Amino acid sequence: MSAPRPELLSINTATVRKQWALPDIIAGCARHGIRYISPWRDQVAAAGLKETARRLRDSGVELSGYCRGGMFPALDRSGRRAALDDNRRAVDEALALGSPCLVLVVGGLPRNPDGTCGTKDLAGARAMVRDGIGELLDDARTAGMPLAIEPLHPMYAADRACVNTMAHANDLCDELAPGGHAGLGIAVDVYHVWWDRDLQREIQRAGAHAGRLMAYHLSDWLVPTADLLLDRGMMGDGVIDLKLVRRWMEDAGYRGAHEVEIFSERNWWKRDPDEVLRTCIERHQSVC
Ligand code: ZN
Repeated sequence: MSAPRPELLSINTATVRKQWALPDIIAGCARHGIRYISPWRDQVAAAGLKETARRLRDSGVELSGYCRGGMFPALDRSGRRAALDDNRRAVDEALALGSPCLVLVVGGLPRNPDGTCGTKDLAGARAMVRDGIGELLDDARTAGMPLAIEPLHPMYAADRACVNTMAHANDLCDELAPGGHAGLGIAVDVYHVWWDRDLQREIQRAGAHAGRLMAYHLSDWLVPTADLLLDRGMMGDGVIDLKLVRRWMEDAGYRGAHEVEIFSERNWWKRDPDEVLRTCIERHQSVC
Protein backbone atom coordinates (compact mmCIF):
# COMPACT_ATOMS: atom_id res chain seq x y z
CA MET A 1 0.00 0.00 0.00
CA SER A 2 1.14 3.53 -0.73
CA ALA A 3 2.44 5.70 2.08
CA PRO A 4 0.39 8.72 3.17
CA ARG A 5 1.10 11.84 1.15
CA PRO A 6 -0.31 14.62 3.34
CA GLU A 7 1.18 17.30 1.09
CA LEU A 8 -1.14 16.21 -1.75
CA LEU A 9 -4.35 16.97 0.14
CA SER A 10 -6.64 19.46 -1.55
CA ILE A 11 -9.95 20.79 -0.30
CA ASN A 12 -12.70 21.26 -2.83
CA THR A 13 -14.30 24.36 -1.40
CA ALA A 14 -17.78 22.82 -1.57
CA THR A 15 -16.72 20.77 1.46
CA VAL A 16 -17.03 23.75 3.82
CA ARG A 17 -19.07 26.12 1.67
CA LYS A 18 -21.99 26.36 4.08
CA GLN A 19 -19.77 27.52 6.93
CA TRP A 20 -17.19 29.70 5.18
CA ALA A 21 -16.91 32.12 2.28
CA LEU A 22 -13.92 31.63 -0.01
CA PRO A 23 -11.56 34.06 1.81
CA ASP A 24 -12.21 32.13 5.05
CA ILE A 25 -11.58 28.83 3.27
CA ILE A 26 -8.24 30.02 1.86
CA ALA A 27 -7.19 31.30 5.28
CA GLY A 28 -8.45 28.12 6.97
CA CYS A 29 -6.52 25.84 4.62
CA ALA A 30 -3.37 27.92 5.08
CA ARG A 31 -3.82 27.68 8.85
CA HIS A 32 -4.17 23.89 8.69
CA GLY A 33 -1.18 23.50 6.37
CA ILE A 34 -3.34 22.43 3.42
CA ARG A 35 -1.60 23.49 0.23
CA TYR A 36 -4.33 23.06 -2.40
CA ILE A 37 -7.93 24.04 -2.92
CA SER A 38 -10.38 23.68 -5.79
CA PRO A 39 -12.85 26.56 -5.69
CA TRP A 40 -16.24 27.00 -7.38
CA ARG A 41 -17.02 29.83 -9.74
CA ASP A 42 -19.84 31.29 -7.67
CA GLN A 43 -17.55 31.55 -4.64
CA VAL A 44 -14.87 33.25 -6.73
CA ALA A 45 -17.44 35.65 -8.18
CA ALA A 46 -18.64 36.54 -4.68
CA ALA A 47 -15.10 37.12 -3.40
CA GLY A 48 -13.83 38.82 -6.59
CA LEU A 49 -11.46 37.24 -9.11
CA LYS A 50 -8.51 39.60 -8.60
CA GLU A 51 -8.97 39.65 -4.85
CA THR A 52 -9.03 35.84 -4.79
CA ALA A 53 -5.87 35.62 -6.92
CA ARG A 54 -4.19 38.02 -4.48
CA ARG A 55 -5.30 36.00 -1.42
CA LEU A 56 -3.97 32.83 -3.00
CA ARG A 57 -0.60 34.43 -3.72
CA ASP A 58 -0.35 35.86 -0.21
CA SER A 59 -1.32 32.60 1.51
CA GLY A 60 0.73 30.21 -0.64
CA VAL A 61 -2.41 28.14 -1.31
CA GLU A 62 -2.62 26.86 -4.91
CA LEU A 63 -5.39 25.43 -7.04
CA SER A 64 -5.66 21.72 -7.85
CA GLY A 65 -8.57 22.46 -10.17
CA TYR A 66 -11.35 24.94 -10.89
CA CYS A 67 -15.05 24.07 -10.65
CA ARG A 68 -16.50 24.20 -13.13
CA GLY A 69 -17.23 24.55 -16.80
CA GLY A 70 -19.53 22.42 -18.91
CA MET A 71 -23.34 22.35 -19.12
CA PHE A 72 -23.12 22.35 -22.92
CA PRO A 73 -26.54 21.05 -24.09
CA ALA A 74 -29.30 23.56 -24.82
CA LEU A 75 -32.52 23.43 -26.82
CA ASP A 76 -31.46 25.98 -29.41
CA ARG A 77 -28.37 27.43 -31.03
CA SER A 78 -28.38 30.61 -28.97
CA GLY A 79 -28.50 28.59 -25.77
CA ARG A 80 -25.54 26.51 -26.85
CA ARG A 81 -23.70 29.70 -27.85
CA ALA A 82 -24.37 31.24 -24.42
CA ALA A 83 -23.05 28.08 -22.72
CA LEU A 84 -19.89 28.23 -24.81
CA ASP A 85 -19.35 31.90 -24.00
CA ASP A 86 -19.76 31.15 -20.31
CA ASN A 87 -17.22 28.34 -20.62
CA ARG A 88 -14.73 30.70 -22.24
CA ARG A 89 -15.10 33.00 -19.23
CA ALA A 90 -14.47 30.01 -16.96
CA VAL A 91 -11.25 29.29 -18.88
CA ASP A 92 -10.13 32.88 -18.36
CA GLU A 93 -10.89 32.70 -14.64
CA ALA A 94 -9.01 29.41 -14.31
CA LEU A 95 -6.00 31.05 -15.96
CA ALA A 96 -6.18 34.08 -13.68
CA LEU A 97 -6.18 31.78 -10.64
CA GLY A 98 -3.35 29.57 -11.91
CA SER A 99 -5.43 26.41 -12.00
CA PRO A 100 -3.86 23.31 -13.58
CA CYS A 101 -7.19 22.49 -15.26
CA LEU A 102 -10.83 23.46 -15.67
CA VAL A 103 -13.16 20.67 -14.54
CA LEU A 104 -16.11 20.02 -16.87
CA VAL A 105 -19.48 18.80 -15.62
CA VAL A 106 -20.84 18.41 -19.11
CA GLY A 107 -24.60 18.81 -18.64
CA GLY A 108 -27.58 16.52 -19.15
CA LEU A 109 -30.79 16.84 -21.14
CA PRO A 110 -31.46 20.36 -22.45
CA ARG A 111 -33.84 22.38 -20.26
CA ASN A 112 -36.92 24.44 -20.94
CA PRO A 113 -36.90 28.01 -19.59
CA ASP A 114 -38.86 26.74 -16.56
CA GLY A 115 -36.12 24.22 -15.75
CA THR A 116 -37.96 21.09 -16.87
CA CYS A 117 -36.25 18.74 -19.33
CA GLY A 118 -37.08 19.87 -22.86
CA THR A 119 -36.36 16.60 -24.66
CA LYS A 120 -35.81 12.89 -24.08
CA ASP A 121 -33.05 12.77 -26.69
CA LEU A 122 -30.13 11.57 -24.58
CA ALA A 123 -28.02 10.67 -27.62
CA GLY A 124 -28.61 14.20 -28.92
CA ALA A 125 -27.48 15.67 -25.60
CA ARG A 126 -24.32 13.57 -25.77
CA ALA A 127 -23.63 14.83 -29.27
CA MET A 128 -24.00 18.43 -28.03
CA VAL A 129 -21.52 17.64 -25.26
CA ARG A 130 -19.01 16.28 -27.75
CA ASP A 131 -19.43 19.28 -30.04
CA GLY A 132 -19.32 21.75 -27.15
CA ILE A 133 -16.11 20.31 -25.72
CA GLY A 134 -14.62 20.25 -29.21
CA GLU A 135 -15.35 23.95 -29.73
CA LEU A 136 -14.18 24.99 -26.28
CA LEU A 137 -11.03 22.92 -26.68
CA ASP A 138 -9.79 25.10 -29.55
CA ASP A 139 -9.86 28.17 -27.32
CA ALA A 140 -8.66 26.37 -24.19
CA ARG A 141 -5.65 24.97 -26.05
CA THR A 142 -4.75 28.41 -27.34
CA ALA A 143 -5.04 29.80 -23.83
CA GLY A 144 -3.08 26.90 -22.34
CA MET A 145 -5.83 25.69 -20.00
CA PRO A 146 -6.40 21.91 -19.92
CA LEU A 147 -10.01 20.68 -19.74
CA ALA A 148 -10.84 17.76 -17.44
CA ILE A 149 -14.05 15.86 -18.19
CA GLU A 150 -15.63 14.57 -14.97
CA PRO A 151 -17.86 11.54 -15.52
CA LEU A 152 -20.78 11.70 -13.09
CA HIS A 153 -22.72 8.82 -11.55
CA PRO A 154 -25.55 7.75 -13.90
CA MET A 155 -28.19 9.00 -11.45
CA TYR A 156 -27.25 12.50 -12.70
CA ALA A 157 -27.56 11.70 -16.42
CA ALA A 158 -30.71 13.80 -16.90
CA ASP A 159 -29.84 16.91 -14.92
CA ARG A 160 -26.08 17.25 -14.53
CA ALA A 161 -23.94 15.12 -16.81
CA CYS A 162 -24.71 12.60 -19.55
CA VAL A 163 -21.11 11.37 -19.49
CA ASN A 164 -21.39 8.72 -16.81
CA THR A 165 -18.45 6.36 -17.14
CA MET A 166 -14.70 6.55 -17.45
CA ALA A 167 -15.06 4.66 -20.73
CA HIS A 168 -17.25 7.42 -22.17
CA ALA A 169 -14.81 10.11 -20.99
CA ASN A 170 -11.90 8.17 -22.49
CA ASP A 171 -13.84 7.80 -25.76
CA LEU A 172 -14.37 11.58 -25.89
CA CYS A 173 -10.67 12.18 -25.26
CA ASP A 174 -9.74 9.68 -27.97
CA GLU A 175 -12.10 11.37 -30.41
CA LEU A 176 -11.24 15.01 -29.65
CA ALA A 177 -7.56 14.62 -28.72
CA PRO A 178 -6.54 11.42 -30.50
CA GLY A 179 -2.81 11.80 -29.93
CA GLY A 180 -3.01 11.90 -26.13
CA HIS A 181 -3.24 14.75 -23.60
CA ALA A 182 -3.40 17.81 -25.96
CA GLY A 183 -5.33 19.85 -23.42
CA LEU A 184 -8.07 17.29 -22.76
CA GLY A 185 -8.25 14.82 -19.89
CA ILE A 186 -10.36 13.35 -17.11
CA ALA A 187 -11.22 14.20 -13.51
CA VAL A 188 -11.70 10.93 -11.62
CA ASP A 189 -14.17 11.35 -8.75
CA VAL A 190 -14.46 8.17 -6.71
CA TYR A 191 -18.03 9.04 -5.71
CA HIS A 192 -19.13 8.87 -9.33
CA VAL A 193 -17.14 5.93 -10.67
CA TRP A 194 -16.40 3.55 -7.77
CA TRP A 195 -19.16 1.09 -8.81
CA ASP A 196 -17.87 0.63 -12.37
CA ARG A 197 -16.72 -2.90 -13.17
CA ASP A 198 -14.28 -1.47 -15.72
CA LEU A 199 -12.82 1.22 -13.45
CA GLN A 200 -9.30 -0.17 -13.15
CA ARG A 201 -9.07 -0.84 -16.86
CA GLU A 202 -10.36 2.62 -17.80
CA ILE A 203 -7.97 4.34 -15.36
CA GLN A 204 -5.15 2.40 -17.00
CA ARG A 205 -6.47 3.41 -20.42
CA ALA A 206 -6.45 7.08 -19.41
CA GLY A 207 -3.01 6.72 -17.87
CA ALA A 208 -1.61 5.35 -21.11
CA HIS A 209 -1.86 8.93 -22.40
CA ALA A 210 0.52 10.99 -20.27
CA GLY A 211 -1.35 13.69 -18.42
CA ARG A 212 -4.88 12.55 -19.27
CA LEU A 213 -5.54 11.81 -15.59
CA MET A 214 -5.88 15.44 -14.46
CA ALA A 215 -7.69 15.32 -11.12
CA TYR A 216 -8.67 12.89 -8.38
CA HIS A 217 -11.67 13.63 -6.14
CA LEU A 218 -12.31 11.93 -2.80
CA SER A 219 -15.33 11.32 -0.61
CA ASP A 220 -17.21 8.13 0.29
CA TRP A 221 -20.44 6.35 -0.65
CA LEU A 222 -22.75 6.02 2.33
CA VAL A 223 -25.16 3.10 2.72
CA PRO A 224 -27.93 4.06 2.70
CA THR A 225 -27.54 7.33 0.78
CA ALA A 226 -30.30 9.69 1.93
CA ASP A 227 -30.00 12.38 -0.76
CA LEU A 228 -28.84 11.99 -4.36
CA LEU A 229 -26.75 15.16 -4.26
CA LEU A 230 -26.08 16.28 -0.73
CA ASP A 231 -25.29 13.14 1.26
CA ARG A 232 -21.71 12.30 0.40
CA GLY A 233 -19.66 10.64 3.11
CA MET A 234 -16.34 11.53 4.67
CA MET A 235 -13.57 9.19 3.53
CA GLY A 236 -13.71 6.06 5.66
CA ASP A 237 -17.40 6.35 6.54
CA GLY A 238 -18.67 4.47 3.47
CA VAL A 239 -17.99 1.51 1.20
CA ILE A 240 -15.43 2.73 -1.37
CA ASP A 241 -12.04 0.99 -1.23
CA LEU A 242 -10.17 4.28 -1.43
CA LYS A 243 -6.68 2.82 -1.05
CA LEU A 244 -7.34 0.44 -3.93
CA VAL A 245 -8.52 3.19 -6.28
CA ARG A 246 -5.55 5.34 -5.29
CA ARG A 247 -3.22 2.48 -6.16
CA TRP A 248 -4.87 2.16 -9.56
CA MET A 249 -4.44 5.91 -10.12
CA GLU A 250 -0.77 5.82 -9.10
CA ASP A 251 -0.09 2.68 -11.14
CA ALA A 252 -1.51 4.60 -14.12
CA GLY A 253 0.95 7.42 -13.49
CA TYR A 254 -1.19 9.94 -11.59
CA ARG A 255 0.91 12.09 -9.26
CA GLY A 256 -1.43 15.02 -8.64
CA ALA A 257 -3.49 16.24 -5.72
CA HIS A 258 -6.07 14.27 -3.72
CA GLU A 259 -9.08 16.56 -3.62
CA VAL A 260 -11.71 16.10 -0.92
CA GLU A 261 -15.16 17.03 -2.25
CA ILE A 262 -18.01 16.41 0.18
CA PHE A 263 -21.53 17.75 -0.21
CA SER A 264 -23.14 16.92 3.13
CA GLU A 265 -26.24 18.81 4.12
CA ARG A 266 -27.02 16.58 7.09
CA ASN A 267 -23.59 16.17 8.60
CA TRP A 268 -20.36 17.90 7.57
CA TRP A 269 -21.95 21.18 6.49
CA LYS A 270 -23.34 21.48 10.02
CA ARG A 271 -20.03 21.05 11.77
CA ASP A 272 -17.31 23.44 12.86
CA PRO A 273 -15.28 23.95 9.66
CA ASP A 274 -11.97 23.63 11.50
CA GLU A 275 -13.14 20.22 12.70
CA VAL A 276 -14.07 19.32 9.12
CA LEU A 277 -10.59 20.24 7.86
CA ARG A 278 -8.91 18.36 10.72
CA THR A 279 -11.01 15.29 9.88
CA CYS A 280 -10.11 15.58 6.18
CA ILE A 281 -6.42 15.71 7.08
CA GLU A 282 -6.71 12.71 9.39
CA ARG A 283 -8.80 10.53 7.07
CA HIS A 284 -6.69 11.41 4.04
CA GLN A 285 -3.71 9.93 5.83
CA SER A 286 -5.47 6.96 7.43
CA VAL A 287 -7.91 5.59 4.84
CA CYS A 288 -7.04 7.06 1.41
ZN1 ZN B 1 -15.84 15.81 -8.28
